[in-house]
Amino acid sequence: MGQTVNLLCATCGGLADGWKCAICGSVAGEHDAGHLHVGSDRYCTVKCAGCQQADVHCSCV
Ligand SMILES: [Zn+2]
Ligand SMILES: [Zn+2]
Ligand SMILES: [Zn+2]
Repeated sequence: MGQTVNLLCATCGGLADGWKCAICGSVAGEHDAGHLHVGSDRYCTVKCAGCQQADVHCSCV
């Protein structure tokens, strides 16, 4: 589970490689819906396979 799911980066549309928190940068093999940061709606999001950043921070485009 997790690694075989076809995820896409929301920024560049490329393949995503797992999950990464856009706030603290913690990496997870599966989406962690309970990983939240107070005061922000950004949390555990897909990790872009191209730049290894959370998709909202993707620098591939
Ligand atoms: Zn990307
Ligand atoms: Zn976090
Ligand atoms: Zn990227």
